[in-house]
Amino acid sequence: MKKGYGIIPSSKTRVRCLFCGVHIPKANRCIDQHTNGAKHKENVMLKMENGLDILNENLYCKPCNQVVDEDGSVADHIDTESHCNWRAAMEDLTEGEFIKLESYLSSERDDVRCDACSVDLSSSLHVIEKHVNSVKHRNRVVERLKPLNGIFSIENDDEVFCKICNIYIENTIGSVLQHIDDDEEHVVWLAEIDDLIDGQDVSIDRYLANEYEINAFCKKCEMDILCDAQNIESHVHSEDHLNRFV
Ligand SMILES: [Zn+2]
Ligand SMILES: [Zn+2]
Ligand SMILES: [Zn+2]
Ligand SMILES: [Zn+2]
Ligand SMILES: [Zn+2]
Repeated sequence: MKKGYGIIPSSKTRVRCLFCGVHIPKANRCIDQHTNGAKHKENVMLKMENGLDILNENLYCKPCNQVVDEDGSVADHIDTESHCNWRAAMEDLTEGEFIKLESYLSSERDDVRCDACSVDLSSSLHVIEKHVNSVKHRNRVVERLKPLNGIFSIENDDEVFCKICNIYIENTIGSVLQHIDDDEEHVVWLAEIDDLIDGQDVSIDRYLANEYEINAFCKKCEMDILCDAQNIESHVHSEDHLNRFV
């Protein structure tokens, strides 16, 4: 961070911190003390996560398209109703959609990125809503989700195969998504395994992405484990695994 970043002159004897909305005596010692303080650092961090930046010597919120009042801080602004509403609507729209907001919010870029479609989108809620509901995007999302869910194409294009449930599913966006989100056997199997491998350095990514892979992999022990709840459970509780240091 540049020294004095966000600090602008406000009078002969004082400067103003744009992120904290406070005035400080114009002495290097005071400015350093302020910029090294916990509150200032938190505001700088929050600004990077919430789409606020400096515009023409003002604190400006991109999502709200609004200049923040002189005595308002980043923390104050992100608690406002307009900002909270935007945030909630945006999270609602983009959750599980492979849409990345970080570089938009940190002001690195003006667009948001849809990783599923490899396109940049304008950050307006309307544009994003239209995009996530488009058939093209829904298709891409399903294609992204298949290898994370043990679902594979088969010769017959009308159906796909779920290796977790050992069943065939109609190959439409709706039925594949319904299977991934709502099929009890499928959801419970993944949740149980996720629970078991949480923090254990065991990966089932390859099992899910490769039709013929039968094993999970323990990175800690560098070994394969047959990929079912029983085998994984006994592995993560085994002496060998527990006592292994990496
Ligand atoms: Zn400050
Ligand atoms: Zn805002
Ligand atoms: Zn997309
Ligand atoms: Zn399944
Ligand atoms: Zn292990």
